[in-house]
Amino acid sequence: MCFRSGSRAAHDPLLCIVPPYMLRVLALRGDPQVAEMARTLLKQTEKLRDERAELMGAGLPPPDPFRGAYATAAVSPAEGLCCPERRIHDGQFRAALPGKLLRSEGDDPTGIADADTAYDAAGQVFSLFAEEYGRNSLDGEGMPLIATVHHRRNYNNAFWNGTQMAYGTGDGKIFRTFLELSVIGHEMAHGVIQHSGGLIYENQSGALNESIADVFGSLSLQRALGQEAHQADWLVGRGILGPGITGAALRSMKAPGTAYADDLLGQDPQPWHMDHFVTTSDDNGGVHINSGIPNHAFYLFCAYLGGRAWELPGRIWYRALQTLNNPMASFSDWADQTMDSAIELAGRGSIETVMLRRAWKLVGIAI
Ligand SMILES: [Zn+2]
Repeated sequence: MCFRSGSRAAHDPLLCIVPPYMLRVLALRGDPQVAEMARTLLKQTEKLRDERAELMGAGLPPPDPFRGAYATAAVSPAEGLCCPERRIHDGQFRAALPGKLLRSEGDDPTGIADADTAYDAAGQVFSLFAEEYGRNSLDGEGMPLIATVHHRRNYNNAFWNGTQMAYGTGDGKIFRTFLELSVIGHEMAHGVIQHSGGLIYENQSGALNESIADVFGSLSLQRALGQEAHQADWLVGRGILGPGITGAALRSMKAPGTAYADDLLGQDPQPWHMDHFVTTSDDNGGVHINSGIPNHAFYLFCAYLGGRAWELPGRIWYRALQTLNNPMASFSDWADQTMDSAIELAGRGSIETVMLRRAWKLVGIAI
């Protein structure tokens, strides 16, 4: 489990790609080996969270919740933005982070596939934020992009811990890898969200945090592939599920609730409409579940507009994140903020604002 209930967890989360309810289902339904793996993973991540809470309590500055109010929303490529500062480490299948440095910025490929994939993907995500939105790294101030591959043995998860990314290799059964661009973009986007004023990781604001991470994860992939909205699959984590699992991905923005339907994992629980909003105390109030609703609104908006989703739609979402100034925002607050951004970037009464209103309305949110 990457999160516990309680206010501390919501303010100081460890942001994992695999939601805790998937692990609980595996602990319940898996064969003895899989069930043991799931139980161990649930325990390990809880411990890691505790360690991080201690670290944060030991003098690391807390995120400034109001920073978003003062951040200028750069929407065009900024002068002087250039290069990421990547550092990819080998976790050597152990728990310690960051592990042994394998490849620094400018180094030749290592020949270790996971390390080189992590390096290239971090560059593609950096480039999305820098070239399209004028942001210099995750914090806007050029922070190094630190990642660890081969984190723990058979580790079925990937996470952003507030300072770096870490990727397991999967156990080869339930998950085959986590080094996929939409997953890497998702984890790095959690860093951008944290440094953009943050969204408290529970209930609707937590589901927005998850949704915005999915949006920029998917946009990272679409931009790297040069796909227009209608060409993209809008999946998060395509190809990461293991060979024995019936499913395409972890989540689908185009059709939430259909990413997987498996005898072991059960059915993807994401709703796409407010009528099916899930009220639960699990998963920090369903942050990985209800994110399907704002995810689908973004997809609909991009589908209505056509063209490259990382351009105007991505700019509107990015600008809304920079100007939100409400760490406890509801879906409705966020929809309003995206409309304000659309008016600023596309003009009041523009076709884009009409389409945005239509997209939110279709998922049951009136603005
Ligand atoms: Zn996440």
